[in-house]
Amino acid sequence: MMNEMKDETQAHPLSHNDYFGEVSSSRFSLLASKDRNFLLSPNGGQKQRKLNTKYNVEGIPCLIILQPYESNKEDGAEIRNGVELIYRYGIQGYPFSKEKLEKLHEAEREKCEKQTLVNLLANQYRDYVLSHAGVTRKVPIVSLVDKTTALYFSAKWCVPCVKFTPKLISIYEKIKQELAEKGKDEDFEIVLISSDRDEASFDSYYSKMPWLALPFKDPEIKNLARHFDVQGIPCLVIIGPDGKTITCHGRNLINLYQENAYPFTNAKVELLEKLVEEEAKDLPRLVYHEGHRHDLNLVSDGNGGGPFICCVCDEQGSCWAYQCLECGYEVHPKCVITVDCVDNNVLL
Ligand SMILES: [Zn+2]
Ligand SMILES: [Zn+2]
Repeated sequence: MMNEMKDETQAHPLSHNDYFGEVSSSRFSLLASKDRNFLLSPNGGQKQRKLNTKYNVEGIPCLIILQPYESNKEDGAEIRNGVELIYRYGIQGYPFSKEKLEKLHEAEREKCEKQTLVNLLANQYRDYVLSHAGVTRKVPIVSLVDKTTALYFSAKWCVPCVKFTPKLISIYEKIKQELAEKGKDEDFEIVLISSDRDEASFDSYYSKMPWLALPFKDPEIKNLARHFDVQGIPCLVIIGPDGKTITCHGRNLINLYQENAYPFTNAKVELLEKLVEEEAKDLPRLVYHEGHRHDLNLVSDGNGGGPFICCVCDEQGSCWAYQCLECGYEVHPKCVITVDCVDNNVLL
């Protein structure tokens, strides 16, 4: 996700060439920007290109953190993923030294090992989540222990979220129904973790969802987003019955496998991948798709494919796809509407 960058340098252009000399004994960051040369001299265009090459800057924002002169000669003294670290640790990350980062990673590992659904969702003031059912409209978090629980990071202002929610509702209902029919001793639940900006939006968005929710603006919402490193929504994090994270890519799995994705475990995904591989054997190599003027080729990760956004349903896909070699148009095999051949006179 690209963050918006404030262009504050416009008012404070730096005009000397020896900036790095002056700051070599303090920690110092380089922020690469497309339209301004942060902290560079007026002839910085050339310098910026040199820096881009030196630090392999491929996208922006990019934050390179240089260490003080004394430790500058050690391996790994430059931190290249500054943006990620700032996002992940905020002020805690300072001074971004190797030791500090190792400490933070260690603390994170420990936190993951101790992770339970209760310590994820509850705090000292609240031991419940919201529900549409019951008189109190509250469900104790302990009642979710032993269920597979999905944390749905979403908001009404987010267009992809609003598009994804109805699909998730239908899949949630199918999974619940299947579990009930099989009389299985297991259950599935979803908890909305909303980043809506006003309560009215939260209320109207949540009112359409058949599952649970953290209260509007609950302090745990920020902690959860940071804990799971949620960088874009919609995002669906799946927590296993043991309280440990199964995957943060629940949304992709839902898009790929619908209700069959449940319980989202590695073993299940491997099984589904094998099935997809099998099914693809019977797919035609070449199809004509309604409304597209070129023929589409069957591609996979290994042969010309890769992660894509389906031009029919606007959702992500991977594994198999039908791709137009001429214009890059790509669709899920399930989204193809096959036509016999393309009548160029009509479609052109
Ligand atoms: Zn599609
Ligand atoms: Zn095409």
